[in-house]
Formats: sequence, C-alpha cells, structure tokens
Amino acid sequence: MIPVTKPFLPPKEEYIELLEGIWERNWLTNNGPLVNELEIQLKKYLKVQHLLYLGNGTIALQIAIKALDLKGEIITTPFSYVATTSSIVWEGCKPVFVDIDQDSFNIDPSKIESAITSKTSAILATHCFGNPCAVEEIDLIAKKHSLKVIYDAAHCFGTQYKGESIFKWGDISTTSFHATKLFHTIEGGAVFTQDATLLKKMAYMRNFGHAGPEKFNGVGINGKNSEFHAAMGLIVLKNIEQILASRKTKSELYDHYLNKASVLKQIIQPGAFYNYSYYPVVFESEKILERVKENLEKSEVFPRRYFYPSLNSLSYVDMSETPISDSISSRILCLPLYHTLSEYEQTLICRKILRTLRYK
Ligand SMILES: *Cc1c(COP(=O)(O)O)cnc(C)c1O
Repeated sequence: MIPVTKPFLPPKEEYIELLEGIWERNWLTNNGPLVNELEIQLKKYLKVQHLLYLGNGTIALQIAIKALDLKGEIITTPFSYVATTSSIVWEGCKPVFVDIDQDSFNIDPSKIESAITSKTSAILATHCFGNPCAVEEIDLIAKKHSLKVIYDAAHCFGTQYKGESIFKWGDISTTSFHATKLFHTIEGGAVFTQDATLLKKMAYMRNFGHAGPEKFNGVGINGKNSEFHAAMGLIVLKNIEQILASRKTKSELYDHYLNKASVLKQIIQPGAFYNYSYYPVVFESEKILERVKENLEKSEVFPRRYFYPSLNSLSYVDMSETPISDSISSRILCLPLYHTLSEYEQTLICRKILRTLRYK
C-alpha cells in the first residue's frame, strides 16, 4: 500500500534516550526543559527571533486571531485545509473568500481590495503547499487599509523567501507540526511574530492566562504541548536536512517522469527557496482526475485530493464566487511523497498515470 504520506520516524533508540530524561525528571508537560530546548533549536534553525511551540496548528490560528483581537470580516483563501476557515468561524468572525491565482494557487492580491468593507479587520492567507504568497503586495494592501495579516504557514517548514524564513511575514505567522507535515512533533504547531508584546500576549494565552499560580493576565486557553512531543521534534529536527533533500530528489524524479504528461504544476514564487512539501498535479478535467485516482487505487496507491472541496462550499459559510479555486480544487491531486517512498514505487505511480492519460 502506498499512501499519500507517511510520517518520518527517527531511530527508536534516539527517542528512548530522551524518554529516560523525562522519567528521571518526572516533568511531563507545562513548558518543560524539552519544550524549551525545542523552541531554542527551532529559532536557531529557522533564524527567527520569536516563536511559541503549541499543541497544534489549529490552536495556533485561533490564538493568532484572538491575540490580534480580530472582529467582523476576515479576507481569506478558499484553497486551503479546512482549519484555515473553521478557525475564523470558531473565533466568531466571518470568512470572506477571495479567489486564488491560477499559477501560484495562493490568494490573488489583485482581487483583495474589492473585497474590503468597513467591517474587514484582517487578511488570513495560506502559503499553499509551501509556496510563498505575494507577501509584499499583501503587506502594502494591509498597510493602506489598516488591516492585520496572518499567514497560515502550515506547509512552510524550511521555506524561505528572499533568503529569510517565510515565517517572518505577517503580524503573525502560524504553522503545524502534525505527523503528516514535513517537520513534525506528532501533534504540534507554533506561532511566529516579530512583535515582542504580541508574543507575550500569546504566551499568556497559551497557558490559560496564568501569570503565576494565583494570578491571571487576560483570557487564555490550553495551547501547550508536552515533553513527549517536544522530544520527537528534537530528533526529527536532527534529521531535517536529509528529509528536505530527499523530498527534493523525489519531486525531481516525478518531474522527470511526468514532464510529457498533460498536467499542470504549481508555479513557485520567484525568490522562494521551496521545501517540496507536497507534489500536486492538476489534470485537464475532474473526469480525468477521477480516472487516474481510480486506476492508482486499483494498484493500492492512495493519492489525496488536496484541497477538495473548495472551502467556499462549506455549509457554515456564505456563498461566494471563486471560479479559479473551484476549478483547481476539482482537478488537483497530491501524489505520494514521503521519506521511505522508493524510486521503484514512483516509477510505478508515474507509469499508471501516463497510461491512464494516454487512454483518456
Ligand atoms: C495541517 C494544517 C492545519 C492544521 O494543523 P493541525 O496541526 O493539524 O491542527 C492548518 N492549516 C493548514 C493549511 C494545514 O495544512
């Protein structure tokens, strides 16, 4: 069976070594030494000044929205994972969808201004599949209209833009360290900001608002993560260069085999150092996609329709017209991409795809 992804698992002994320390200290969660160490190492690796390690990428989005005190309407992308939209709704705001660009698959900055109303408080955009948004243009629009910017950078571990971590963009950037992500801590996530005051506010929010055992500083939630999760993160981080390099090699092998196929590829933003977090291909029609998927499944290969359906069709949001997102979302398939995927398996996958396309 070839799934769309398999989490990277480091050598078991290395994990067990860190568990010994947890048993010795008897300190399991609540900002323990391994959580601290992971935060320090992540800051060093990513070359960012501030970050907070959290329970998951969804609580990261919710804390970001809360910390910026967002109200009313939030302009967002319909082409992302459901958590991008559900977090907005969960925090009592209204998502307003702006269509995506057909090359980058990210929110189209030229369509943002016409969606701004007197109720708009922010833009929440996803760097889809790790491809940076048009961050400079979005920044200019936000400044002009006094809007806050949050980036859902869940796919962006290792992505850089103009030589710096993409996590530096936006008032707050969020990410996920879920097991299916390129860098993971089993469950986990983080928020990034360049603003020390905002960081402090989010640090209180992460821990119920505790400012000491008997004092509270504002309303908080449980956004913490544990020593066990941090331990996994520390070991996965040791292997990160190898993980990134192997995804690049595998993506290039797919490129090589599929270059004559009639499929469209996402176009990576110039100036980006890309992390090869996913391998999406867009077919000419949904019918062809379905046929490809069916044929792959017959051979026990399970790609995923990321992201389908387009989020503007969720039952709890207002109808809006985003034809490009609707179209791409109905024709896009993410091919298997993970550390232990073999060249032989990739050849098999590509042969199936090419054969299906030939007999379309
Ligand atoms: C994975 C993901 C999330 C949610 O992260 P969790 O850690 O699973 O809560 C949010 N947004 C996007 C774009 C994602 O891919």
